[in-house]
Amino acid sequence: MKLLRVDMTSHQTRWEAMPEIYQHLGGRALIARLMLEEIPATCDALGPHNKLIFSPGLLGGAGVTAAGRLSVGGKSPLTGGVKEANAGGTGGDTLGRLGIKAIVVEGQPKQGEFHLLHIKGDAAELLPADEVRGLGTYATSEKLQAQFGADCLVISIGPAGEFLMRGAGIASTGEREQRSNHAARGGLGAVMGSKGLKAVIIEKPFGNAIPFADAKLVQTAARAFAQKLINDPKLGTQGSQHLYGTASIVAAVNEMGSLPTRNFGSGIFEQAADLRGEHMREVILAREGKIGTRCMPGCVIACRNQYVDEAGMPVVGTMQYETIALVGSNLGISSLDDVARLNYSCNDFGLDTIETGAALGVAIEAGLAEYGNMESIVALLNQVGEGTVTGRMIGNGAVTTGQVLGIRRVPAALGQAMPGYDPRSLKGNGVTYATSPQGADHTAGNAFGARKEVNPLGIQGQKELSLKLQIIAAMLDSTGLCLFARPPILADPQLMVDMLNGIYGWGWTKEDYDRANREVLRAELEFNRRAGLTQADYRIPEYMREEPLAPHNVVFDVPDAELDAVFNTL
Ligand code: SF4
Repeated sequence: MKLLRVDMTSHQTRWEAMPEIYQHLGGRALIARLMLEEIPATCDALGPHNKLIFSPGLLGGAGVTAAGRLSVGGKSPLTGGVKEANAGGTGGDTLGRLGIKAIVVEGQPKQGEFHLLHIKGDAAELLPADEVRGLGTYATSEKLQAQFGADCLVISIGPAGEFLMRGAGIASTGEREQRSNHAARGGLGAVMGSKGLKAVIIEKPFGNAIPFADAKLVQTAARAFAQKLINDPKLGTQGSQHLYGTASIVAAVNEMGSLPTRNFGSGIFEQAADLRGEHMREVILAREGKIGTRCMPGCVIACRNQYVDEAGMPVVGTMQYETIALVGSNLGISSLDDVARLNYSCNDFGLDTIETGAALGVAIEAGLAEYGNMESIVALLNQVGEGTVTGRMIGNGAVTTGQVLGIRRVPAALGQAMPGYDPRSLKGNGVTYATSPQGADHTAGNAFGARKEVNPLGIQGQKELSLKLQIIAAMLDSTGLCLFARPPILADPQLMVDMLNGIYGWGWTKEDYDRANREVLRAELEFNRRAGLTQADYRIPEYMREEPLAPHNVVFDVPDAELDAVFNTL
């Protein structure tokens, strides 16, 4: 196992053997440890002392279904703390099969200089990026695949990342012609832009697979895991996740009164039926688009779709719940065609749809556009790609937009916009937003799936639920496993322990595994402490504690003392 260092100041690359202390770490866990060891926590997130780290999860390259996500991390320019965001696609599998535990991008070139990092086997070199400079992520990956081979992996930023906008994410190619897998959150696209790195191109290895310590053990566990996913009524071929994708939850989130609507002004959207996953499926099938596609080879859930226009031409793939909520109901938009259009533009500019949807909602509240008026919203969003002053405000996220426009209703915690669940009526998520070292991020511990276990409107049990979910999220992000594939591992953690032991021969027990997952959060909390973040920085905004949310007329009322006690038992 090896690590690639890329020095953007000197334009040099060098391989290092992976130090022993990092051998048990992958993805988010490795990023947290490297950040603690190597990044001064108080550094400027867009300066030369921050680092951008790419790392596959521990299962990357092992051929386990739904386990090839690629983690990207570094100090976040949005939260000022630790950030890990991960993307589907073929990144985790490719790096895993090449034996690359991490690519660490360091230093900073002269202002305005942009490079490509090209990796082929043991060769890694920086090349000029002039040909793709200023292009959107779609055109960038198309052009680079035409140059380096249709099968190569391309990880890139769009204009938002080049402009160092804090709402910028990082796009990765996926199975076949897919170009829209995003490590979207936390402004890591701006960190990549600050390194002068437009794209990473990795030529995929043929036939490589990571060696197994005990092939029988890993294969038995991996087969049992895949079979459980296939048999799961929500995930198998008749399951809602496969049939409707993540949009399957639009109706349920609306019914529970948690669907962000008009800048988080209500939890219920009167036209939510038009945004439902079931409706989206009907539209896509009627127009001969695609349903049940995969972001990575071998995923048995296959949750993705390709949304097409009335003429059957592809618009965007895949359209996900969070995007539907943030650039749909949150902007008063009820047409899936309109959501798809906004989704495409965000993807192409290289923007996080959550951060951008929230920023647009704040801008609409300030009068810069109108709810439900596509023309006015598109006019605002297009300015991000043009790099106008207004566009830079939107591209820098919800908090910046609120500050510039004098709006105090900004749905954000730790500087990062909230995803598609209002914390007033899904209080478990509120606890996660207000305590996670990752800021307001549903993937850090989403309580939506546990709404039948713990009353989403009550306070009781939320602290314990959030901690449990945050530990699970750390596990998923460190192994490269997709969030949607977690049910079998939750029911039987031994499956994961067997897969890890089968691959690496560690002889871990379930207790070792649990300890490792908790350690991820400890390392991240320590980084944020060193960065100077205090409990006050994490809080849910004051207005959400005072302004009741329809239809339940609830505020976020989990006491600060409860929030401060979440990690007492970590
Ligand atoms: S469930 Fe969906 S997002 Fe997850 S790995 Fe499979 S296709 Fe990708």
